[in-house]
Amino acid sequence: MEITIEKASESDLKAKPDGNSLGFGAIFTDHMFAMDYDEGQGWHDARVTRYSNFSLDPAAMVLHYGQAIFEGLKAYRGKDGQIFLFRPKDNLARMNLSATRMCMPNLDVDAVYECLRELLKLEKAWVPDVEGASLYIRPTMVATEAGLGVRPAEKYLFFIILTPVGAYYPEGFNPVKIYVTDKYVRAVPGGVGNAKTAGNYAASIMAAQEAHKQGFTQVLWLDAVHRKYIEEVGTMNIFFVIGDEVVTPPLSGSILAGITRDSVLQLVRDWGHKVVERPITIDEVFQAGEQGTLTEAFGTGTAAVISPVGSFHYNGNTCSVNNGKTGALAQRLFDELQDMQYGRKSEPYGWIETV
Ligand SMILES: *Cc1c(COP(=O)(O)O)cnc(C)c1O
Repeated sequence: MEITIEKASESDLKAKPDGNSLGFGAIFTDHMFAMDYDEGQGWHDARVTRYSNFSLDPAAMVLHYGQAIFEGLKAYRGKDGQIFLFRPKDNLARMNLSATRMCMPNLDVDAVYECLRELLKLEKAWVPDVEGASLYIRPTMVATEAGLGVRPAEKYLFFIILTPVGAYYPEGFNPVKIYVTDKYVRAVPGGVGNAKTAGNYAASIMAAQEAHKQGFTQVLWLDAVHRKYIEEVGTMNIFFVIGDEVVTPPLSGSILAGITRDSVLQLVRDWGHKVVERPITIDEVFQAGEQGTLTEAFGTGTAAVISPVGSFHYNGNTCSVNNGKTGALAQRLFDELQDMQYGRKSEPYGWIETV
């Protein structure tokens, strides 16, 4: 793929923020990548340009019918200044699954990966040099064709923006309080729960807001039909350690297939744990809590990597996990994955790429 690079002039470059006081997704780098799609022509005009506004027709289909998909991955700065990526092509491959589900065009994974590398080479200095901080990468695709007919658009925009993000756990790796909702659902069978599409996030905001108001960090989602099988936690996949089993819900179609989830499954299998992907109800979790066999629960996702759960709150009842402390497996997974991501440890899986 031909790519044009239009560099910002030296005097237009933004001041880099302090790596110790970064939030999430509030500051964007100097450049971005974009390309256009037209039915019959395919992807064209691949370009790295200054970070700037788009011009969109008010009838652009994404603004009305929501054909919008995205990805999230990170670039990490290792000790010697080297930049590392974690399973980046898996994110682009997953984007194609989302695209197919939303009747949007697929990407050439290898070509887009090369474009991402070009962008990252230019923005290298934006990868924070602080333990736990990283450069978050947001590939996005939206329907740009103007028209109000409900059908797949014939024009799309794909772009990648970059934002330096702080350590997810600036005050340490602490378990969170989770609110279990059976009032709202995130996704339904046959729906788009397994696509990383914008509407899933829009649909989740009200439940998250109600949970926050009551002092909880995240929502635990139950299945839409029975309202009892556990699906995900916030925007993360979820794992439990019950007795000698590591349990996570299966990829039923309404769950997002997390790359962190897949990595955790691989690691815990290789560490000799008994791992099962099976349906698990909220009642089973509470019972295991009462019987003392529930020893750990944690979420998995790119943003936090591993997020230990301290307690679940459901219908006025509380299920405390490991006395509200981080479990040994969650800690080991977090350390192992971070060691790989910051290039401190070699790994046999081929997950780490250098820029
Ligand atoms: C992105 C996402 C995840 C986590 O996926 P990773 O590839 O591990 O970052 C989990 N659940 C939902 C709903 C997501 O959107």
